[in-house]
Order: sequence, then C-alpha cells, then structure tokens
Amino acid sequence: MKAKETIIVTSERVGCDGGDAALGHPLVYLSLADKPAIVCPWCGRRFERAASYAASGH
Ligand SMILES: [Zn+2]
Repeated sequence: MKAKETIIVTSERVGCDGGDAALGHPLVYLSLADKPAIVCPWCGRRFERAASYAASGH
C-alpha cells in the first residue's frame, strides 16, 4: 500500500506525473483555483496550496 504524501504548492495549477518511476503516471494538470487542496486521481498524492499564496490575490 502506497503512502499518501502532501505537497505544498504555490501555484493554482500543478502538474503531477506520480513523482517517481514506481508511482509514475502520465503528466496531468490539477487545478487549485477554486479549492485549497486537491488529490491526484492517479496517484493519490495531495496537493495543498500554500496559505501565503491565497492571500496574494494573484
Ligand atoms: Zn499524480
């Protein structure tokens, strides 16, 4: 059973390819534009937007 990891990101769009050969999958883009966190449906990794980014208004 693979461990889920949380990755803190500063962009509202992140690309995920699984991170390494064992968990790899085709590169997909996940949008954090309307939510503070998202779980990759391919590998289960959780991407969480850094709190400081949300305050920037970008
Ligand atoms: Zn993934």
